[in-house]
Amino acid sequence: MKSGRHFLQIPGPTNTPDRVYRAMHRAVMDHRGPDFGTFGKGVLEDIKKIFQTENHVFIFPASGTGAWEAALVNVLAPGDSVLMYETGQFATLWKKMADKLGFEPIFMQGDWRQGANAEAIGEQLRADKGHAIKAVCVVHNDTSTGITSDIPAVRKAMDAAGHPALLMVDTISSLGSIDFRTDEWGVDVVVAGSQKGLLLPPGLSFNAVSAKAMAVSNDGGAKRSYWDWQDMVGPNESGFFPYTPATTLLYGLREAIDMLLEEGLENVFARHARHGEATRRAVRAWGLEILCQDPALYSNALTAVVMPDDKGADALRKTILDGFDMSLGTGLNKVADRVFRIGHLGDFNDLMLMGTLCGVEMGLQRAGVAHQKGGAQAAMDFLAETP
Ligand SMILES: *Cc1c(COP(=O)(O)O)cnc(C)c1O
Repeated sequence: MKSGRHFLQIPGPTNTPDRVYRAMHRAVMDHRGPDFGTFGKGVLEDIKKIFQTENHVFIFPASGTGAWEAALVNVLAPGDSVLMYETGQFATLWKKMADKLGFEPIFMQGDWRQGANAEAIGEQLRADKGHAIKAVCVVHNDTSTGITSDIPAVRKAMDAAGHPALLMVDTISSLGSIDFRTDEWGVDVVVAGSQKGLLLPPGLSFNAVSAKAMAVSNDGGAKRSYWDWQDMVGPNESGFFPYTPATTLLYGLREAIDMLLEEGLENVFARHARHGEATRRAVRAWGLEILCQDPALYSNALTAVVMPDDKGADALRKTILDGFDMSLGTGLNKVADRVFRIGHLGDFNDLMLMGTLCGVEMGLQRAGVAHQKGGAQAAMDFLAETP
């Protein structure tokens, strides 16, 4: 048994605030009763503010992966072509899912150090004269790399190509931490999950769906049942769901929405930007490399740090977990053991960040990883001077 609080600094699940835990600590209510309808309607209405949308937001009791599947099966028919961009591991998993479901993904290759290339997407679409491509899928913040893609640029490229494909964006690790504007950016289907920027435990996932995507789903899509948007629309009108919703998590969601709106979304995004910058200053001061090579695309939700060649990231993470009771994100797939990831999203403040960075710096020293001291100091200087 360890004393003190564990530091959960993986880029999701993130730290759930005590206010959200308290909101969930109550008896489950009748999900067909009148009180639930009023409650459900409020949640379904207010969640739209977090997505910055007027579109319908569907809530599934599922991990984020479920909302990926819902997005694909509602608008694609077997054999349909879908353009997907390899930004990292999460884009790769979404593509594998599309394969399994019998769609035909065109996977545009990336090197895991840059964001989605909007120009290249535009070129692919212009070459698709017969409009075989039905959707373009991009991960807004690929959590495996700490790289954010420029979604307005992708939208612009699609419009410039005059291509009718739907734009579908995974915001599982950005919604509620990095600015994401569903309507202004013209995103047809947004995929999100509860356990990262949304401050909740895992277990809820979301699709925000444009009228255009709803129409596509009305007329076609793949065979589906649990994920069918159409079955949700009727019950949602009065705040209900077609099956038992995750009532306890919805109490938490109500509270999380209130917390984000009380702070103000702009302030939430600014807080994440500031913590992202402080973290990057620490990494540079250590003399280590940030995986993201384009400073315009640095993720403000997490930072992936490249290890010196002679040391593995997993050994460092073990040293830090054993010695200082802090969990850091592991390197996934192509960057396994080469990077570790520092999560700085969700319910987080300056001193939590300093605890995190001190833990990393002590870990580097204890594990014998070549670095310069002073990363935590550099972050402290920035935080102290930039209120
Ligand atoms: C975490 C994550 C997922 C997977 O979500 P689960 O809740 O684990 O199913 C997908 N995409 C991104 C960008 C993620 O960060």
